[in-house]
Amino acid sequence: MERILTVRDMQARAEALRREGKRIGFVPTMGYLHEGHLSLIDEAKKHSDIVVVSVFVNPTQFGPHEDLESYPRDIDRDEALAASRGAGLMFYPSVKEMYPGTQQTWVQVEDLTGVLCGASREGHFRGVSTVVTKLFHIVKPHVAVFGQKDAQQAAVIMKMAADLNMDIRILVAPIVREADGLAMSSRNVRLTPENRKKAVILSQSLFGIREGLLKGQPAGALLEEARAAISAVPGAKLEYLELRSYPALEELTELRGTCLAAVAARFGDVRLIDNVMIKI
Ligand code: AMP
Repeated sequence: MERILTVRDMQARAEALRREGKRIGFVPTMGYLHEGHLSLIDEAKKHSDIVVVSVFVNPTQFGPHEDLESYPRDIDRDEALAASRGAGLMFYPSVKEMYPGTQQTWVQVEDLTGVLCGASREGHFRGVSTVVTKLFHIVKPHVAVFGQKDAQQAAVIMKMAADLNMDIRILVAPIVREADGLAMSSRNVRLTPENRKKAVILSQSLFGIREGLLKGQPAGALLEEARAAISAVPGAKLEYLELRSYPALEELTELRGTCLAAVAARFGDVRLIDNVMIKI
């Protein structure tokens, strides 16, 4: 598998692939790959001739007190895993390569980014949409695959691609979970063994809400019950648990169509998110 470190080399490679008539599939990641990321490679392969995986821990999407420094990294392991699933190219730029000077140009998707994670992580989605735009211009994909794990991010990217007429098909692949239901995340390795066990409350709460809604139980009571259950776990700090329309992320006045139940909570210094989609 080929590892490309510079923007110029990646752009030249992408251009050559396009000239050969190859369809480029793209999976952007922050690395420390797990089965969730690898499922995106599987999906990208179905729609392309060659899959490019990028590994870049993007500083502009981290707040000043977030885990940029402690984010887990292991590029050799990532490369081996990506290659084992048939990815053809790894784009692994440095921060200096991606942000050589001060970045003065930003991509901002408006309403979608003021709620859920956007409410507490100021500037996060501006960093995400900007780096994804940069990566799209570097990798020149025909199709890019994102995970439902970051449901708000997927909604933001779809809106950005539509609003800016990006000629890239955006696909969203389902959440891959551990055996006990915890959504896979690179951050899970930073959980203490006790918090790892406790974190299952997130998926359990979401599954409970989905089951209750499908049985016709009232949304308000289901949400309150789940919020109380998470807050009752010692050491867990609930940030939000909300039900919203998808992909518009509007508050729900009635339960109809596709709804998103989404949660964010901290266990120690590890912030986890999870969600379920409910079709009513
Ligand atoms: P990250 O490296 O965490 O920035 O994630 C890179 C991509 O992988 C994003 O599109 C995520 O939504 C996706 N992803 C992360 N975890 C999972 C998971 N458990 N299942 C499916 N996709 C995931």
